[in-house]
Amino acid sequence: MRLSGKVALVTGASRGIGLGIVERFAEEGAIVYAGSTNPPTGVYPQGVTGVRLDVAQEGDWKTVVERILAEQGRIDVLVNNAGIIVYECVHDLTLDAWNKVVAVNQTGVFLGMREVLPAMRAQKSGSIINVSSIWGVAAVAGAHVYHATKGAVGVMSKNAAIIYVGDGIRVNSLHPGFIDTPLTQSQDPGINAAVIAATPMKRAGTTREIANGALFLASDESSFMTGAELVIDGGYLAQ
Ligand code: NAP
Repeated sequence: MRLSGKVALVTGASRGIGLGIVERFAEEGAIVYAGSTNPPTGVYPQGVTGVRLDVAQEGDWKTVVERILAEQGRIDVLVNNAGIIVYECVHDLTLDAWNKVVAVNQTGVFLGMREVLPAMRAQKSGSIINVSSIWGVAAVAGAHVYHATKGAVGVMSKNAAIIYVGDGIRVNSLHPGFIDTPLTQSQDPGINAAVIAATPMKRAGTTREIANGALFLASDESSFMTGAELVIDGGYLAQ
């Protein structure tokens, strides 16, 4: 029970990596709130509360964080996991598509950190985990705005880490490689095959393998870790 009694909020939690993190946190004794734009029913383990949280909506953040504090009196862990992708290169990218991806992947992370920080600062503890990507570190051709936002998430995490270190708050970014999720299942099989072929382990990662990293960052086992990039990618970035 590595998260026994800890109160956690996970965004983008209706499927994929977010759902894997919710399940892993619940197994380890956390009290989990699982956010998504359309909270599903019959998906979460017992004790997990599904909440409506569109991360691009300031009002949703305020409502959800107020509810958690009213019900639990504290918030120990925030996982900013919600994310979307579009594949266009710079010359093909519309301003609408740019703004939509920035709103979820980058502004959502800013709003999430901002809304939980007052409670974490008051309680003098907290772990914030911002999900970036290998594409936040290295580039492939295409997906320009995805790269932009995932790169930003890494530096935003380092910035927050050094600002709030004196408040007992740790902020780290998590960088998955290619993971088998509804997102990757729905994209061009050619893209998937190319990324797996370029991964030294020659396979997709599982949501549980990413959730294990999030568990480590959420727990006190990572107590000397802040402003760090945790890469879980089958060796991709080692090349
Ligand atoms: P996914 O299968 O598409 O799941 C995305 C989740 O985000 C869903 O629960 C979705 O739920 C939610 N979501 C979408 N827009 C949202 C919004 N505005 N507000 C709140 N929730 C929203 O994606 P995934 O593969 O699990 O990816 C999860 C995270 O890992 C993303 O940040 C992604 O960039 C990152 N990542 C994934 C991979 C990979 O290979 N899969 C690799 C590196 C990084 P609703 O639509 O129901 O709200």
